[in-house]
Amino acid sequence: MIQAPKGTFDVLPADAERRQALEHQARKILSAAGYGRIETPVFESTELFARGVGEATDIVQKEMYTFDDGGGRSLTLRPEGTAPVCRAYVEHGMHRLPQPVKFWYLESFFRSEQPQKGRYRQFWQVGAEAIGSDAPETDAELIVLLSELLEAMLVKGVHLRLSSLGTPETRAEYREQLTAYLHAHEDQLAPEVQARIDLNPLRAFDSSHPGTQAIMRDAPKLLDQLTPEDAEHFATVREQLDAVGIRYEIDPTLVRGIDYYTRTLFEFTSDALGAQSAVGGGGRYDRLVEQIDGPPTPACGWAAGVERILLSGAQPPIAPDPVDLYIALAVRETTSATAAFVLAREARRAGLTAQLELAGRSLKGQLKHADRIGARYVAILGGEREATVREMGSGEQHEIPISSVIPTVLRGNRLS
Ligand code: AMP
Repeated sequence: MIQAPKGTFDVLPADAERRQALEHQARKILSAAGYGRIETPVFESTELFARGVGEATDIVQKEMYTFDDGGGRSLTLRPEGTAPVCRAYVEHGMHRLPQPVKFWYLESFFRSEQPQKGRYRQFWQVGAEAIGSDAPETDAELIVLLSELLEAMLVKGVHLRLSSLGTPETRAEYREQLTAYLHAHEDQLAPEVQARIDLNPLRAFDSSHPGTQAIMRDAPKLLDQLTPEDAEHFATVREQLDAVGIRYEIDPTLVRGIDYYTRTLFEFTSDALGAQSAVGGGGRYDRLVEQIDGPPTPACGWAAGVERILLSGAQPPIAPDPVDLYIALAVRETTSATAAFVLAREARRAGLTAQLELAGRSLKGQLKHADRIGARYVAILGGEREATVREMGSGEQHEIPISSVIPTVLRGNRLS
C-alpha cells in the first residue's frame, strides 16, 4: 500500500469543517483590521530564505526541502511565510502604496523536522504581516489580533510571552558579551550548545539541559541593554496591551528560530499542547525588506500553526450540512435515473442540498442510507413523471408530480 510521506497528513472531509471555521474567523478578524489576503508560490528561490531567514538558523541549515529545478536554479519549498510576503512587497513595488501594507495568509509550509504530535513536515500556518510602519501600535495591534483569533477558536490555556530584541547593533554588542560569557562557562554547557556558541549563542537560552539552564539564569540579558528608543518602543507596546487587558509575561530569554527579528518579539503557547506548546508567534523585522533588496522598511508580523490551534481548541465537531432532499429510485432503469439526475440539479439550483442514489442500493437500502445521512425528504422516483415524497421526520408520504417535489421541500423547509 502506498502511504502518505512521513510527517504529512490528509485533511479528510470530516476535518475540513473545523479548518474552514478557522479560515472564516481569520478572515473576519484580520479583514476587519484592514489586512488583505495574499497567496505566494509554494516554492521560491533558495536565496530568499538563506538571506531572509538567516544562514545560521536551523530552518536554513537542516530543515529546508531544496531542489534543483533542472535548469541549474536552486528552489526551496517555503518553510515560512514572512520572507515570501516581503519578496512580493518588494517585487510589486508596494512601498509606493499608502503604508503600512497589511497582509494575511493561510497556506502550507514545509520543514524537514522530526515528526511528532503537533509537528509535521507539511503544516499550515495562518499569518499576518504589516509592512511599512514602525509605530508600536502595529506591534500591539498584531498581538491583539492573534489573541482574538485564538480566543475565537477557543484555544485553551493560552499564555503570551513578550520580549524585545532591540536593534541589530545592540544585539551584535550583546552577542559578543554573551559569547564571552558562554566561553567562560563552556565546560558546564550541553555539547550541542558548546558547538554553537559562536554560530548562534542566543539559542543557549532554548536548551533543556539542566547545566546549561543554570548557567543561562545568570547570563547577561538583552532586555537590560536596549537603546532608549528601543526601550520606549517596547514600553509603548506594553502600555497598549495593558490598555486592552491582554495579559503577558516578559521573558528576556525568549528566542525564536529565525534571524530576522528586531525589537518586539512574542510567542503564544497553550497548556493544552504537549511538548510542542507554541501555538503562534512573531515580532518586528525592521531590516528584512532591505535585506532582500527592498528599500529600508520597518515591519511586524506573526504566524500561528493551524494544526496546533485545532489541537488546542475546544470547538465541538461541526455537524455536516443537512441534506434537504435525497432522491431514490423505486426501480433502476434509465428513464427514472435521468429524471432523478435532472431533479437533483434543479433542486440545487433552487438552493436546496440534494443527493442522488449512486451505489445501486435496493429501495430499502436507499431509505436506510437517506436516514443515515440525515435527509429531511426523500423523493422516490418510479418513472419520469411521478414521485413519492416522504418526510423523514414524520414518515408521512404523498404521491405527487415530479415537478412539485422542489416546491414541496422548499415549503417544508420554510415551515420547519
Ligand atoms: P515559526 O514560523 O517557526 O515561528 O512557527 C510559527 C508557528 O507555526 C508555531 O508556533 C507552530 O504553531 C507552527 N509550526 C511551526 N513549525 C511547525 C511544524 N513543523 N508542524 C506544525 N506546526 C508548526
